[in-house]
Amino acid sequence: MKKREFLKMLGVGGLGLAVPRVAFPSDTLLVPDRAKKMKNWAWMTPELEPSADVWKKRFSVMRRSGIDAIIPEVYDGRHAYYESKRLPVREAWLEKVLPLAKAEGLEFHAWMWAMPCNIEQVRTKNPEWFSVNRKGESAADKPAYVEYYRFLCPSRPEVREFIEANVAELAQVDALDGIHLDYIRYPDVILAEGIQPKYGIRQDREYPEYDYCYCDVCVQEFKKETGIDLTKVEDPTTSREWRQFRYDRITRLVNDGLVPITRRQKKLVTAAVFPNWEAVRQQWSVWNLDAVLPMLYNAFYYKDIDWIREQTKKGVQSLKNPMPLYSGVFVPSFNPEGLVKAVEASLEGGAEGVSLFSAGAMTEAHWRRFEELVSGRM
Ligand SMILES: [Zn+2]
Repeated sequence: MKKREFLKMLGVGGLGLAVPRVAFPSDTLLVPDRAKKMKNWAWMTPELEPSADVWKKRFSVMRRSGIDAIIPEVYDGRHAYYESKRLPVREAWLEKVLPLAKAEGLEFHAWMWAMPCNIEQVRTKNPEWFSVNRKGESAADKPAYVEYYRFLCPSRPEVREFIEANVAELAQVDALDGIHLDYIRYPDVILAEGIQPKYGIRQDREYPEYDYCYCDVCVQEFKKETGIDLTKVEDPTTSREWRQFRYDRITRLVNDGLVPITRRQKKLVTAAVFPNWEAVRQQWSVWNLDAVLPMLYNAFYYKDIDWIREQTKKGVQSLKNPMPLYSGVFVPSFNPEGLVKAVEASLEGGAEGVSLFSAGAMTEAHWRRFEELVSGRM
């Protein structure tokens, strides 16, 4: 018996608690047809205060509980949380936590924003880089919904170079296992149903103020590729070609730019994506990633746990190139039992594991149940 299993039997393995508990989880937790080991991920937002000792303990809990890979947010479109030579640095957080996580046996995937840019110097110097909505308003000075929705236009070569350089710099960090792309998309033309009330809006169709990008470069490129003059199209929301053109802007950036740049450094490349991908122009089913992590935050869509299973299945079936899919689970929606059900629904739908949003939302009770679930499958 391994030391870890022995400690578990004594009930001292979990979180250093003295509370005795059942050594091994009951069989009722097992999904019948599941034999291979799952892989689990956890997103982490930056926390600059905790000491190295605190991180060591946290990482140890994560590893023991069944997390294999962590995804710390090290660039949020405004600040770098690593020693960047090109982005405004808030603090060298990556350099602090990376060795500690690796020492605990965790994979480390650097989470970075792709399309939004909230760096003031970039905005002042290159206002033309920013996306323009169907009303002609630029995200540089009038972003949709929230002040940080300053999305760049993927049709502009300078924008692609900027994003590629951000990825290239990060991918050079030696001990990293991968780059995790977030906000690799357009602004939501239609928000998730459960989010709309938060902004006091109701989006029953694609309204011009949320519909991007209608800048000159996009209009020209669209004409060049399809022969269609967008300015003459009465209702652009009905144009299949215009829709596909925008999906392709992001797909090309990923497949032809960001993926090769990352692989050149022998790193994995993954992305956080939307189940309702059309609304953010994000056709991830054709991306050449190493894994895809759809954010199946059911409460945002007024859906139950069954929806997680359905969306997982739909996502797996949609993939053009086979790659593992890990269902993103929104932890604050669930008590520990609910979390277990959400994980099981993901596995039943064909996920190879889950990604928790976020590690910081997991209570001791959540970790305990998660650990029981994962260890029951090994
Ligand atoms: Zn544009």
